[in-house]
Formats: sequence, structure tokens, C-alpha cells
Amino acid sequence: MSSGPLSTVCRDINFMVNTPPTGAAETGPPVDTAVSPVAVAGEHLQRGRHLTHRRMLALDIGGTKFAAAIVGDSGEMQERVEVPIGADPTATLSALVRSLASSPGLAGVGIGTAGPLDRGRVSPVNIPAWRGFPLADKVSELSGGLPVAIAGDAQCMALGEWWRGGHATPGHTMLGVVVSTGVGGGLVIDGTPFLGPTGNAGHIGHITVDPHGEPCPCGGVGCVETIASGPAMTRWALAHGWQPTSPTPDARMLAADARIGVPIAVAAFERAADALAIAFLTAAALCDIDRIVVGGGVSAAGETLLHPLRQTVKRRAGLAFLRRLQIEATSLGRDAGLYGAAALALTQA
Ligand SMILES: [Zn+2]
Repeated sequence: MSSGPLSTVCRDINFMVNTPPTGAAETGPPVDTAVSPVAVAGEHLQRGRHLTHRRMLALDIGGTKFAAAIVGDSGEMQERVEVPIGADPTATLSALVRSLASSPGLAGVGIGTAGPLDRGRVSPVNIPAWRGFPLADKVSELSGGLPVAIAGDAQCMALGEWWRGGHATPGHTMLGVVVSTGVGGGLVIDGTPFLGPTGNAGHIGHITVDPHGEPCPCGGVGCVETIASGPAMTRWALAHGWQPTSPTPDARMLAADARIGVPIAVAAFERAADALAIAFLTAAALCDIDRIVVGGGVSAAGETLLHPLRQTVKRRAGLAFLRRLQIEATSLGRDAGLYGAAALALTQA
């Protein structure tokens, strides 16, 4: 348990404080000074500007919990806090932001949030109390007027992987994809996040891969998410004879069965891999993407998902520029979104 004032505040309000890993003074991978926030922020920062040791407040607004961290402009995570949303999400947010906003030297706030979002307003599916909630304005108010940058959680995951996950390649384009209870994504073009006019660019989970497939809650038909999300894979496997040992089966159990060769579980992963591969190649053809980094709960299946995914991409890719597409696992895990939110804040601080 770290012993600073922030930790004390967080204990007082029953926050769960995650401390740096043993042996590390600060969390996160080693700082690669060759990949500076200037490279992350692309054209939004003045190239060549000297780093000033600014610190950012990063927020990750999920469907069941909120996470927050203080991140320096060299990419070092100095504090990390996580708290269940509780009965009143606005009260939880207020306590969280107020406790961290008093941290000295903050230059801005970055928010990665469950969507959908529209110009700073959010309507997370799993937070029914927030519909059109002015999250960016609220956080700005709570932080005493700090500049606030906001993007989708998967967009922040992508930016975090670019900056701190070892995936930054100047001049190249990366797609980060979260495969979890839904499927989301975010584009990073030469270090700059591409968010789009409404902030929703990268919604790869709602690319149609089966025009005759299942209706999707989004209103579309045969979206990637109807095949490759954890619940969709589980549902399909059960409908095709999977007999899990638990009365409440999920994608993690399905992955375990696939690893030991249960045919229907293997088929569910191959089917999901096929849907993802079609969407990945579609995105790559449109945006000349070099690298796709896959994170999210389902990606914890590791090679059970990634091996068929790479094989299918290899089999389906035609054009030379598509055949060079690399697919890799997240290297930051759940912290990718916090690093990305901090990087996003750097673009506006
Ligand atoms: Zn959809």
C-alpha cells in the first residue's frame, strides 16, 4: 500500500488502491524516452516542445467500476485507484475526481469511457442513470476547471498501447480492439488518435460481417459483436451442444474447454476469429493498418483466440499491404485505457 496522502484519502472513502508492482517505484512498463508524448500526441502537440514534467489525471469509466490514475508526461503511472460504481455513479465520480484533482501539478484530465458518447456526453449501456450525461463538463467542474479530453474506452486502449505498450511505429497506423462483453476499437494514425466528428470512430464491433446474421442491439444485423463478443460466443456454443460444467458458463470457461480440445468450444473460437478477421481486413484495407492489438476479457484466452485469428487473416488477406498486417496481444492489459486517457489529455493540456 503506498503511503502518500492520496492513498489516505482513498482509504477514507473506501476506495481500493492498487499499488505499484513489487520492485517497481512506479507502475507500468519501462519508460521509453524514444516514444515521447510528443510522438503520441502527433500534430496536437508542438513537435520539439520540451517536456515539462506535467502530470495528467486519467479516468477509465467502465460499466461496473471506475479507475483513475495520475500519469506523468513521460508515461510513468504514479497512483492508481479503482472503485465500484455503486448505487450513485455521479456521487462516486465526484468523490473520485475530487480526491485526485488535489494532486499537485495536474495539467489536464483525460477520460476513456464506455459509450456511446457524443461530444462529451455519454450514455453507457451499463450505467442507466447516465443518459446524455455531460461527463466532460462534470469532470471539468469537479477538477476546478482543468482542461478535459474525452474518448471511448477502446480508443484510449489503442492510444495507450501505442504510447506505452511498445507498439509505436512512427508513420504507421494501428488499430486497438477490445474483445469483451462487446467489441470496440480505436485507430491511432502516426501517434494521433482518430476519433471522428462525434467521437465514435473505430466502432469495429458494428461492422457487418454476416448480412444474414443475427440482429444486433445496435440496430444492425450480423455485426462482429453478434458473433465474437464473449456472451455471443457462449450463447452460440450452448445452442450447438456445448455442455459446460458450470450453471453460469462464460467465455472464460469456453476458452478453457477450447484449450483441451472440446470441439464445439474450438468451433466457437474459430467462428469468432473468422468474424474478427473479416472486420480486421476490412479496416486494414480502408486505413492501411499495419498492426492490430487485441485486448479485453476474451483476449485473455491468448493463443486460443489469436492463433485462429492470425491463421484466418493470413488465409483471407489478398493484397500485399494487407498480408503484412500483424496481430498482437495487449501488453498493458487493463491499464492500457488509463495510459491512453493520459496521452489524450496531453494532446489538450
Ligand atoms: Zn451492431
